[in-house]
Order: sequence, then C-alpha cells, then structure tokens
Amino acid sequence: MEHKAQLKNVKYRNWVRAGLGIKYVKEGLEPFCDHLVNQQHIAILDKVKRKHNLSAVTCGLCDVRTLQPDHVQTKTRQCPLGQTYCNCLHPRGKISCANKVCGAIYDEIIQLHASTPPAPNWKNTDAQQWCTEPWAVAKCFINAPGYEANKSRAVEFDCPGLLHVLINNIEFQQHIKCVITGTDVFSRVRKSRNDIFHSHSMELEDTEVNNYIDDMIELLEDEHEIKHRQESKDAVKNLIELKREDFITTTTDEAEIRRVAMAAINEKERELQQTILVAGNEFRTAAAEGKRKLEGKGLVIKSELQQKRRKLRKELVMTNDEVRTTATEGKRMLEKEGQAIKANLQQTAEKIEQKRIGIEKQLTTKTVEAEQNIELKLQE
Ligand SMILES: [Zn+2]
Ligand SMILES: [Zn+2]
Repeated sequence: MEHKAQLKNVKYRNWVRAGLGIKYVKEGLEPFCDHLVNQQHIAILDKVKRKHNLSAVTCGLCDVRTLQPDHVQTKTRQCPLGQTYCNCLHPRGKISCANKVCGAIYDEIIQLHASTPPAPNWKNTDAQQWCTEPWAVAKCFINAPGYEANKSRAVEFDCPGLLHVLINNIEFQQHIKCVITGTDVFSRVRKSRNDIFHSHSMELEDTEVNNYIDDMIELLEDEHEIKHRQESKDAVKNLIELKREDFITTTTDEAEIRRVAMAAINEKERELQQTILVAGNEFRTAAAEGKRKLEGKGLVIKSELQQKRRKLRKELVMTNDEVRTTATEGKRMLEKEGQAIKANLQQTAEKIEQKRIGIEKQLTTKTVEAEQNIELKLQE
C-alpha cells in the first residue's frame, strides 16, 4: 500500500514537472512573440497607409461584425481571399470604414492567416483597437475562444495562445525553421499542453513526461531565431533541470501548476458550452432554412396556380369577345357559330372545373356568367 501510494506520488510529481515545462516554454517564447507581433503590426499599418495614401492610420470606430472589407465578393459570390465566413459574402448592413483603415486591416489579417481556407478568429478581437494595439490584431490568429479580454503583452497570454499565434500566421512561420504540418514540434507541444492540463488523473508516466520535455526543448532550440534568444536559453536550462531524476518539485510549484490546470479546465468547459451553443444555433439555422425552402416551394406552386388562373381567365375573356364580335355579324352566322362557341365554352368551363380547385368558386361564377352571356347573345 505504501509502495502504491509512493508510485502514485511519483506520477503526480511527473505531472507537476510537465506543467512546469509548459510554463518555461511560455516564458521562453514571450519576448519573441511580442517582438513579432509588434513588428507585424507596424508593417500592416504601413501597408494600409500606402494602399490608401493616408497621412495617418487611425480609426477605432469600426465593429468587426459589421465591417465592410476592402475586397468584394466575386461574381459567383465567392470570397476572393478564400475565407468561408467572410463579411464580403453578406454585404447588406456592412459599413465601410470611414477612415479607409479597418477594411484594409481586415483583408491583411485574412491574407496573413496560415490555414486553408484562411480562418481568422474574429470573435477574439476588438477591431476598435486594431490601430493602437498590436495584440488585438494578433488575437485573430488564436484559433480558440477565451481570449476576448483586452491584452497587450505576450505575458498576459497562456502557452497555447502564443503557440497558436506562431502556428497560424504565415509571416511568423518564416521566423521559425520548423515547418508547420500539424505533427511538427510546435503543434505537438500545443497539443501536449492540453493533454497535461486537461488530465483528470493529474498523473504521468516517466516516459510521458520525458517525451513532453524533449519536445519543449526542441521547440525552444528552433534554429532560426528562437534558439539564439537569451530567454529561450534560460528556459532550455530549466527544462534540462526538470528532466533530472532528483528534481524536487516544491509545494509552490504544485500550487501554481494546479492553478493553471484549474483555469485550463474551466476554459475547456466554457469552450464546450460555446460549441453546444453554436451547434444549437446551426441546428436552428438549418431548421429555418428548411422552412424557408418549403415556403419558397409553396410560393412557386402558388404563382404557378395564379398563372394558370390568369391563363384560364384570358381564355374566357377571349371567348366572350369572340362571342360579342360574332353577335354583330348576324344572327344566322351567330346561330351557326354560336353553337360551336357555346360548345367550346362549355368545354372550357369543364376544363376549368378540372384544373382549378383552389379558385373554383370564382371561376365557376365566371363560367356561369359567360354562359349567360352567350345565352343572351344567342337570344338576340
Ligand atoms: Zn471575403
Ligand atoms: Zn475603421
């Protein structure tokens, strides 16, 4: 029993070590991310400035949900930038930026997004801050909810947030040697962070924690730039320490990692609730769509019926005209032709009877009228 408890204790300590590892990765990446995000922000504003020949790039008035992009949908109603749910596809109610700034930034963000099709996370961002807050722009590259609150430094983000920004930004990818494929070391560390902090057992085997930490070291030793930064070197040093058999986790470490795990689980729960909400909305949209389609079909049938009705009425009127014309031509002819017309009219009336169920009454009246008319003419 005592041995079992001790083993459990080892696994729990492994979990704490892995959690600490993620913390070191985050610390190692923070200045690098701040640097990239700030540089890109300057570049975006500069590009917008040149694009619209502006003396200053300022706005702070636009709402991303109603913002009209600079680009417009193609003739075949596609987004030319390939974004599936693009504002360009629903131009009604969209407002173009009065300062010629935000629509251009919107376009830039889509073009910088690395996924196929590009899918910036507009829910995370506040467009009113785009001109003044580099991280407000960078947040569009975090493909996860929970980053809505105002943040202006990498230190305010969690490790997956920073990794998302690096992974999902075409230009940031140029600053790392690692090629993002989904199974690369950046993607692996992002995934292992979730595995660690969403773990209910809060236990890890020795091999698991060592594999995790090896990935973290590999990430921080990315040869292009990260490896050469002091904070990355410090983080790697800490990670190597973590791997030592005799590494002692303190109660402070434990408390900190448990706190992070708690926050991660809360976030996960919120994310799930969000997913359920979205699924519910999608279901309702689909149901409404189905209803609309049915109603549309109903309208088509209705209009077809109306056309038929009009056609039949026309036939009736024409026949009546014929009757009148014929009447003036002489009684004899009328007697001859009148019979034919009458027969014809009766036929028409029968046709009407058969064809039109919905408007039967009205037409029957017309038919009766027509017949009476003919009777009158014939009697003339
Ligand atoms: Zn578009
Ligand atoms: Zn604007």
